[in-house]
Amino acid sequence: MAQLPDTMIGSAVESACDRWARFKPIVTGEDYLASLRGRNITCYLFGERVPEPVDNPLIRPSINALKATYDLAIEDPELATALSPLTGTRVNRFLHIVEGPDDLVRKNRMQRRLGQITGTCFQRCAGLDTISVLHSITYDIDAKYGTDYHQRYLEFLKQAQAHNVIIAAGMTDPKGDRSKRPHEQADPDMFMHVTRRTPEGLYVSGAKAHMTGGLNSHWICVMPTMNLMAEDRDYAVVGMVPADAEGLTFIYGRQSCDTRALESGKIDQGNAQFAGQETLVVFDDVFIPWEHVFMDGEYEFAQDMVSRFTAYHRASYVCKTGLGDVMIGAAATIAEYNGVEAVSHIKDKLVEMTHLNETIYSSGIASSHEAEALPSGIFINDATLANVCKHNVTRFPYEIARLAQDLAGGAMVTLPSETDFNHEVAGPLLQKYFKGREDIPVEQRVRILRLIESMTLGRNAVGYLTESMHGAGSPQAQRIQLLRTMEVEKKKNLAKKLADIPVKVIA
Ligand code: SF4
Ligand code: FE
Repeated sequence: MAQLPDTMIGSAVESACDRWARFKPIVTGEDYLASLRGRNITCYLFGERVPEPVDNPLIRPSINALKATYDLAIEDPELATALSPLTGTRVNRFLHIVEGPDDLVRKNRMQRRLGQITGTCFQRCAGLDTISVLHSITYDIDAKYGTDYHQRYLEFLKQAQAHNVIIAAGMTDPKGDRSKRPHEQADPDMFMHVTRRTPEGLYVSGAKAHMTGGLNSHWICVMPTMNLMAEDRDYAVVGMVPADAEGLTFIYGRQSCDTRALESGKIDQGNAQFAGQETLVVFDDVFIPWEHVFMDGEYEFAQDMVSRFTAYHRASYVCKTGLGDVMIGAAATIAEYNGVEAVSHIKDKLVEMTHLNETIYSSGIASSHEAEALPSGIFINDATLANVCKHNVTRFPYEIARLAQDLAGGAMVTLPSETDFNHEVAGPLLQKYFKGREDIPVEQRVRILRLIESMTLGRNAVGYLTESMHGAGSPQAQRIQLLRTMEVEKKKNLAKKLADIPVKVIA
């Protein structure tokens, strides 16, 4: 396949085949970094266009978190790779089709491990959950309409596995006036929609908000964010868009204390290596060739697509138990540095944190063990238990964080800056008065306090707390799902039977 001239890279006229041909397959984390360079993506941060995101000190920690998913596949292939039924070769588990409950359990273990390694959101799970849901949705649409979406999807996935790419989930539309359906909005761009169709493909406009890892990905899958009606037909679109496609603009979401990454020292960042990333991605008449379109107008499948996606993704939130492990470790360390680790109420607080963290994990892993097959052959998490997992995540990390702050003490938020610790006059004073246990260097005490600060108030509190609240749907979304699946009539009958009351026949 001929190499494209530079001027055509990212162009709307480039075919899917050409694009894969010029993409060097990724093996190592370093390959991943190289794959992101020179893409000439339009990205704004602090009112300026970012010349090269990989080299931007504020963005780089979020790239490092995704890089960890490649590094882990090399360090622990049993955990982070799987044998692909499509290619017959081992592929990154983030690109693997779920062949049974065991695949979901292994995925959860991998997510916890990556949470432990990065202490933040490593941004790759929503793409995996998108791949999983598309397997069954494309199959179901084809069964009803005789389309060939499933074959297109399988062809895309084979290439995605072979090239080991990152896929971001473009699900959340801006939504505009929440009381109105997509087709009723004054501005049609409030929901992603098809603007025109040609023999080569279709074009979409709109935006996707809060997109996790969007800028760090190679592909973005656009898909509906909610159930749709016949009038919303042009909003029922699913397709794969290269992250450097013409017509895309990224606007980087800032995070609490993120500018500490621009300071000279690293200690005040708490976790200088890793961070999450969310971006607003604007699509201005972006081309998708037909081979990368997996839904076009089949609006009645949008509801199933969203609910199946949430069944996968809400169990993915066991990722937060890996962060919880870090949080517990940080709280135990500061207790040790303060010389109070043997105090009974300290130990009890660590036990409480552990109980909460393992409660999250148990609901997520149970949801995977209870997975069932769909007609396409792929397995899906038990939806009720996945919703319980995510609902636990909207609450327990906050309590774990509260207990970590309790053990950290007020110094966590009153510490002077690293620059003051290095100052010729202030430094020695701080070394004297921030001393804890005699045998522990003050810098170590400061570092662990800054880590707790980062995860509960600073940059990685986005990954540990707010994302736990709102990612994969805010708390009420899980309660609505639980209301639908709690089978209260069946349960009333169980009680009535024991109390010898006539039971109601359930259809
Ligand atoms: Fe993965 Fe968790 Fe980040 Fe979602 S919040 S992408 S599940 S690490
Ligand atoms: Fe998420």
